[in-house]
Amino acid sequence: MRISQILRRKGGDVATIEPTASIVDVISSLGTHGVGALVVSSDGKTIGGIISERDIVRSLATLGADTLEATAAELMTAEVFTCELDATTEQLMSEMTKGRFRHVPVVEAGVLVGIISIGDVVNARVDELEIERQQLTDYISGR
Ligand code: AMP
Repeated sequence: MRISQILRRKGGDVATIEPTASIVDVISSLGTHGVGALVVSSDGKTIGGIISERDIVRSLATLGADTLEATAAELMTAEVFTCELDATTEQLMSEMTKGRFRHVPVVEAGVLVGIISIGDVVNARVDELEIERQQLTDYISGR
């Protein structure tokens, strides 16, 4: 399945945060949006980085409470793996597994147009496999 199909269903909203935002604001926004990662962007369109719950937990382990004084830009991952609308669920599953991350921002002509989580990819694969299973069952039983 193409990523464009998933975005058509779930929409292109992406929770973003400014690079200068504090980690307290990042935590608050993660909670408000009910997501595990935010795209760091100063204009909501171009990607400066990505910050996930994991970055905050990792920093808590090393910096302790000082983590709360840091900014999004200080804890984010600056080199972000992105995909385009014609990428497939198989490609993303493979990249997410290899890179050990669960979020992939989607870009079109350099502009942020959506985000795919590992949950979106798994749900899409389960739907695809169910359709295949149904088609095979119909074929075998001559329906
Ligand atoms: P996650 O599994 O998405 O919560 O993220 C795990 C780690 O990978 C964190 O350090 C994130 O900042 C980083 N990360 C998340 N998504 C991406 C991505 N698309 N490209 C590069 N790094 C990422």
